Amino acid sequence: MIDVAHLTKRYGRHTAVDDVSFRCEPGTVTGFLGPNGAGKSTTMRMICGLTPPSGGAATVGGRPYRELPNPGREVGVLLDASAQHAGRTGREALAVAAATMGVEHRRVAATLDLVGLNAVAAKRRVRAYSLGMRQRLGLAHALLGDPRVLILDEPANGLDPEGIFWMRGLLRDFADRGGTVLLSSHLLREVEAVADRLVVIGGGRIVAQGDKDELLAGG
Ligand code: ADP
Ligand code: ADP
Repeated sequence: MIDVAHLTKRYGRHTAVDDVSFRCEPGTVTGFLGPNGAGKSTTMRMICGLTPPSGGAATVGGRPYRELPNPGREVGVLLDASAQHAGRTGREALAVAAATMGVEHRRVAATLDLVGLNAVAAKRRVRAYSLGMRQRLGLAHALLGDPRVLILDEPANGLDPEGIFWMRGLLRDFADRGGTVLLSSHLLREVEAVADRLVVIGGGRIVAQGDKDELLAGG
């Protein structure tokens, strides 16, 4: 479960995130929707303890992210797929992450299979990956520790239609097995097919939130 309560972030006189509150429950996919610059990444970075809030607080499974005993195994995070380990191969990058998290090495190959990065892609250096492949590798990082919660910032960026369709199935499956998913996008069509709930943000403020079908029916 993710609980976001009155999160606020100011950069100088600019308020990037303004009193944002929402919850994500187990068994659901929450689509976090808003145009570029709306405050999605900043909110997600605050949830993951990477950006200190100016106000408010967030917990994951009842605790601030940074106080989780083993955050990598409890919460899978994909924040910026372009920022990964450019000089390593995908397999090396995951192996390092597995060692850091205390995850069995055999999960590395299993997770690469799960995200569709086969032996060829796993042996290529990450700097030679397309953005779509980086997203798949980022998702592999997120899934490596077999977490109960996924926090994914624009994971569909750079994926082709087949990749988007595939990821939808994976996230639906994850939630149907009791997982909690927070998934951001600037495109309604990327979240509407998979999300149960929508949280819509614009200019740093929540403009709507609730059950997806009710929200979309209400226009
Ligand atoms: P989104 O993820 O929805 O595209 P962001 O959270 O990245 O939006 O950005 C929200 C707002 O905060 C934007 O106006 C952005 O320019 C601003 N912002 C984000 N990070 C910083 C920063 N480190 N310093 C100053 N302004 C920032
Ligand atoms: P996109 O095509 O939008 O960049 P994809 O993740 O679907 O995103 O694929 C990225 C590229 O990498 C594609 O050109 C695809 O042919 C290639 N690719 C995808 N998966 C593999 C794989 N398992 N092994 C080798 N190449 C792959």
